[in-house]
Amino acid sequence: MPPRVGGLPPRVAAMPKVADRFYQSQEWAEARRRQPDKWCTVCGTTSRLILDHKVERKDGGADLDPANLEWLCQPCHNRKTAAARARRARGGR
Ligand SMILES: [Zn+2]
Repeated sequence: MPPRVGGLPPRVAAMPKVADRFYQSQEWAEARRRQPDKWCTVCGTTSRLILDHKVERKDGGADLDPANLEWLCQPCHNRKTAAARARRARGGR
């Protein structure tokens, strides 16, 4: 696959920085501790887990509501993020 980063509009490219601050916060660390079921909701693996927002924060999902959180493994998370980005690029919600 050719690199696509150069083709992204600046608004999209700037977003991860905002997210980083949140993911370093005390509240987020606590949400991770509180969240049960530590396996990937999609494939069931227990390795390389990421606590994911079911509805992404930039799509209006709640930051710390356990009902909006789920564990995903890295590959499943990447797939989901790519799908959400594609949906957003099409103008969908
Ligand atoms: Zn998975």
